[in-house]
Amino acid sequence: MKKKLGLTSKIFIGILLGAVLGLILKGVPDGTIKNTILLDGVLKVMGSGFINSIKMLVVPLVFISLVCGSSSMGDVKKLGRIGIRTFCFYLATTAIAISLALGVGKLINPGVGLDMSNLITQAPTIGESKPLVEVILSIIPTNPIQSLASGEMLQIIMFSLLLGVSMSVVGKKADPLRKLFESANEVCMKMVSIIMLVAPYGVFALIANTFATTGFDAIFSLLKYMFAVSLALVLQVVIVYSGMVKIFTGLKLKPFFKKFAGVAAVTFSTASSNAALPLTIESMEELGVDNSVASFTLPLGATINMDGTAIMQGVACIFIAQLYGIDLGINSFLTIILTATLASVGTAGVPGVGMITLSMVLTSVGLPLEGIGLIMGVDRLLDMARTTVNVMGDCACTLVVSNKEGELDKSMYYREFTQNSEI
Ligand code: ASP
Repeated sequence: MKKKLGLTSKIFIGILLGAVLGLILKGVPDGTIKNTILLDGVLKVMGSGFINSIKMLVVPLVFISLVCGSSSMGDVKKLGRIGIRTFCFYLATTAIAISLALGVGKLINPGVGLDMSNLITQAPTIGESKPLVEVILSIIPTNPIQSLASGEMLQIIMFSLLLGVSMSVVGKKADPLRKLFESANEVCMKMVSIIMLVAPYGVFALIANTFATTGFDAIFSLLKYMFAVSLALVLQVVIVYSGMVKIFTGLKLKPFFKKFAGVAAVTFSTASSNAALPLTIESMEELGVDNSVASFTLPLGATINMDGTAIMQGVACIFIAQLYGIDLGINSFLTIILTATLASVGTAGVPGVGMITLSMVLTSVGLPLEGIGLIMGVDRLLDMARTTVNVMGDCACTLVVSNKEGELDKSMYYREFTQNSEI
C-alpha cells in the first residue's frame, strides 16, 4: 500500500525544490520571463500570498487564544507566577545565547584576514530603534481597537490579559462570553490547519525567491561569519534548549523535535516568528501544553524572546570589530550582553528587524554602523535560521513553564510521538 506523504514532509520537499529552482534562476540572466513572470509574478503571488494568509490569523488568534487562556486560569496569582517564570526564562536564555555567540566569535575570528572593501557598495539605510522608556510605555494601549487593527503585539497581549483575568474574576456571569471565545478559538485553530494545506507551495516559492536573489559574492566572502553564526545557533539548540527541557521536565526530546520540524519549515521559509505563531501555538497544544500557558508564553515569546537574533548580533559585533581592527575589552563584552538582551526584547518578529536593532548594540560599544552594510547581503539566509532558533526558544520555555505549572499532558506529549503524526 502506498504511504501518503504527511504535511511536514511535503513542506520539506517544497523547501528543497524551491532551493533548486532558485539556484537555476540565479544562473539565468535578468529578463522579462525571469523577473516579471517568475520572480515578481507567479512566485511572488504564491509566496507572499501564503505569508499574508498566515499573518491574517495572527491578531485574531493571539487575542482570542490569550483571552481564552487567561480567563480559564482561575486565579490571578497563577498568571503572575507564569508571567514571572516565563520572563525570567526568556531573559536568561537570551543572555546565555549572546554569551555563547561571543565565545564562538572569539574562537572562529570571522573578521580576521578579510578585505571587504569591494562589498561596501553603499551606506546602509537603517531605521532608528526605540529608546527603552518608550518601549515600556508603548505596552499600554490607549485604544485597544487601534492596537488590534495595527497588530501591536505587546499592547494586544496586555489588553487580552486584562480582559481574560476580569472574566475569570467575574466568574459565572462571564460564562456566555467565555463560551463565545472558546468557540471562536476552535474555529481559529481550524483556519490555521486549512491555511497550512497550501504551505508546501508557499514555502517553495519563498525559498526559490531567496535563493534566486542572494548574491554569491556576498556569500563567499562572508562564509566564515555565516559559519560562526550557524555554529552558535546549533550549540544553542543542542546545549541550551535540549539541556533545559531535559533537566527541567525530564521529558524525552524526540517528540519535541519531531513536532517542531513542522514549525521550523515555516519559520525557515518566512523568517518571521509572528507569521509562524498560529502554527506554533497549535503545535505546542498538540504536544500537550495547556492553552492557558501556550496562549500566553508563545505570543509573548514571538514578541520579546529572540535568542537567535541575539546570537547573530553577538557574532556580528565581533566580526565588525575585527574588520575595523577595533579591540573589544571585557567591558564591551558585558555591554554587548546587556544591550543585545534588551535589543532582543525590542526586536519585532518580522523579517530583517534584527539588523535594525543591531545598530543599537553596535552603537553601545562604539562600533561603526557601516559594518551593517557588509553583512546585509547574507542576512536573509541567516534570518531564516535565527528565526527558527527564536521560535524554538519560545517553545522550549513553554514546555518548561507548563510542566512546572502541572499544565503539560505528558501522555499527549508521547502520544504524538508514537502515533507518528504530522503537523
Ligand atoms: N526575523 C526574526 C524573527 O521574526 C527577527 C530578526 O532577527 O530579524 O524572529
